[in-house]
Amino acid sequence: MADGFLPRTAADASPLIDGFGRTIRYLRLSVTDRCDFRCVYCMSEDVSFVPRDEVLTLEEMDRVCSAFVALGVRKLRLTGGEPLIRRGVMTLVRALGRHLAAGTLDELTVTTNGSQLARHAAELAAAGVRRVNVSLDTLDPVRFRTITRWGRLERVLEGIAAARAAGLAVKINCVALKGVNEDEFDRLIGWCGEQGCDLTLIEVMPLGDIDGAGGFSRAAQFLPLSAVRADLARRWSLEPLGFSSGGPARWVRVGETGGRLGFITPLSEKFCEACNRVRLTATGSLALCLGRSEAVELRPLVRGYPGDDGPLLAGLRRAIAHKPDAHGFGTAACPALAAAGRLMNLTGG
Ligand code: SF4
Repeated sequence: MADGFLPRTAADASPLIDGFGRTIRYLRLSVTDRCDFRCVYCMSEDVSFVPRDEVLTLEEMDRVCSAFVALGVRKLRLTGGEPLIRRGVMTLVRALGRHLAAGTLDELTVTTNGSQLARHAAELAAAGVRRVNVSLDTLDPVRFRTITRWGRLERVLEGIAAARAAGLAVKINCVALKGVNEDEFDRLIGWCGEQGCDLTLIEVMPLGDIDGAGGFSRAAQFLPLSAVRADLARRWSLEPLGFSSGGPARWVRVGETGGRLGFITPLSEKFCEACNRVRLTATGSLALCLGRSEAVELRPLVRGYPGDDGPLLAGLRRAIAHKPDAHGFGTAACPALAAAGRLMNLTGG
């Protein structure tokens, strides 16, 4: 892998600040749009993926991530699709780990469906990863199969156990789905408390309803977490925490388990004013906001200037200046988003 990007002047090294004064410190990179599951709220069973030659190589991803690090990004998260099914992905993880060792990056982390975690957990830890997020919407094997279509719960649970054994902190991400898993939140809270895992409940996001998803409609399955939280508070003591993971979750401590529970509520509460993140798709498209269609194509700047970082660095600065002030969920911008085909497996959720 290339040895990263070193800004050549003090101006090059100034942080990335958008038009609303927000400093960009966090990049989420979707290393692949492919996945070994077919979750009903994410992709249809016969989904077509982007052609492989449009997907950035691992070296190109390292180059773009390193450019972001050179411009002040302190946190990188690898997502997908399922990031751990990309062939050779550990080469990228190890390469990015050099920024941790150099002190130019605070955190390198992964969001995974857990299916491949058992075989990669120790290597992730060795590369400097300290935390992983595992998507898990149910602890019921049959329901798990229904939601993921192709997944096996036991493999995910093995993966979580391997991650814990490797010393990784595990946060469970659970998408709250009306009529699907709303009867399981108590069980998940108890189980996460036993496992020593944080849990976040996430409102389903209305990103392009999925044709052929067996009747799944994000709008119909939307469950406002304000109501979920009020209901949980009848049985659990939920003490608000000042703790922040640097993301949009609002955290509470569950008195009975001692565990932390977060709520991510893109629809019922906005958190845009503190947004510090952007997303890079596997094809090199920089999504400036998950809930808006604005994106800037970085692939031409990567492939068009193989030996020259200048155009890419300048392109990143230009792009960030156009980051929108707030997401468009629940507004007229939403249909445009769906029309633009902004699906979670491409942008990494
Ligand atoms: S939600 Fe995650 S695990 Fe499920 S199909 Fe989409 S990318 Fe794969």
